[in-house]
Amino acid sequence: MNFIEGQWQIQGQVLTDLAAQYGTPLYVYDADKIVSQYQALYNAFAPLKVKLKYATKALNNLAIIKLLHAQGAGLDAVSIQEAELGLLAGVPAGQILFTPNCVAFAEIEQAVSMGLVVNIDSIAFLEQFGQRYGSSVPCCIRLNPHIVAGGNAKIQTGHIDSKFGISILQMRHILKVVQNYDLQITGLHVHTGSDFLNSDVFLQGAELIFEAASNFRNLQFLDFGSGFKVAYKEGDIVTDTEELGQKMVQVFQAFCQEYGRELEIWFEPGKFLVSESGVLLAKTNVVKTTPSTVFVGIDTGLNHLIRPMMYDAYHTIVNLSNPEAVQRIYSIVGYICETDTFGSDRKLNEVREGDIIGILNAGAYGFSMSSNYNSRLKPAEILIYNGRPHLIRRREVLADLLATQLDFEPTNQLKNEVAEA
Ligand SMILES: *Cc1c(COP(=O)(O)O)cnc(C)c1O
Repeated sequence: MNFIEGQWQIQGQVLTDLAAQYGTPLYVYDADKIVSQYQALYNAFAPLKVKLKYATKALNNLAIIKLLHAQGAGLDAVSIQEAELGLLAGVPAGQILFTPNCVAFAEIEQAVSMGLVVNIDSIAFLEQFGQRYGSSVPCCIRLNPHIVAGGNAKIQTGHIDSKFGISILQMRHILKVVQNYDLQITGLHVHTGSDFLNSDVFLQGAELIFEAASNFRNLQFLDFGSGFKVAYKEGDIVTDTEELGQKMVQVFQAFCQEYGRELEIWFEPGKFLVSESGVLLAKTNVVKTTPSTVFVGIDTGLNHLIRPMMYDAYHTIVNLSNPEAVQRIYSIVGYICETDTFGSDRKLNEVREGDIIGILNAGAYGFSMSSNYNSRLKPAEILIYNGRPHLIRRREVLADLLATQLDFEPTNQLKNEVAEA
């Protein structure tokens, strides 16, 4: 998103014009930003055999999956449905890693029959997998190295009482199961959460995985998950992918030498690839002055972007319609009947009713976590690609809310009783 000649634009498309043309609320994604993020991450590890498995849950529109697959990305899918979206987008099953958590074993069986690469998350399922498939179907093991990535506690998955992965402290048990069933373990996986503060934490985790990997002879890849940080506001720590890449390439190559084979290195970025590409556009319904605050009430809410309320996430907010006006302090709130705050006490260029507000960094976990709460309809999505807007999801209509509801006609009991008497 650039500010050029008094207007906020993406690839020359003026955002307020898009809001006028497609209506609000509206998710707009910049394809160039997604591609450049992909390339930055890929290039950081390029001396290695690197595979990026896009974490589908961040933003699951088929157009986004296709765009990333065209750059060479595979997928990380956490449900059968995400894997099915991937297949529909043209991603081959063998390039989709299935990393579910606490699902029924039947879902694992379905993943095997679809040809996905299955990532096993508990010793119980490792045993079941062994009983069912033995050495005939290779799999990956998700380990929990108990490295705490730092940052926001609500998005950490590596701590000791986390439900994710098999504890690295249970390695002897894992090896016993693997040996019992002659399991073919082709990959080891760690994903310590969605925020790590520096590359040293990452490398610390890597050392533990290398140690674990020496127990398995048929590995083809090591998957280091994600946790790459992007800036949500000025001054935020971001992952220095170049620095991390340099350090990681060195230790990974040294490990491969020791291991005796060149392994692939996998990552599963979600947020890093799509967060900054996205902006949520909304219209100002009301500017409401109370004794303590000036509220800007906009035509969206936590039903469309839940991160501020769910994770206390900070999203930069700008007034796209009046960008050169004097700045004032506002609280930007949604139209849902809940406390529904996007940002408190923010400096925005003076806001008038009808102004288009942009909530930045809305590409990841925005639309994909949206709901129909308050019976509100979900927004449309636009992808700006090669300088042109592409409508990649139409706005919902009431019929979408009704599509899964079935007829039911109750009788009025009281009225019947009166009639009978
Ligand atoms: C959510 C998730 C990711 C992506 O995390 P980001 O912070 O969006 O990059 C990667 N791997 C797994 C297993 C996940 O659950």
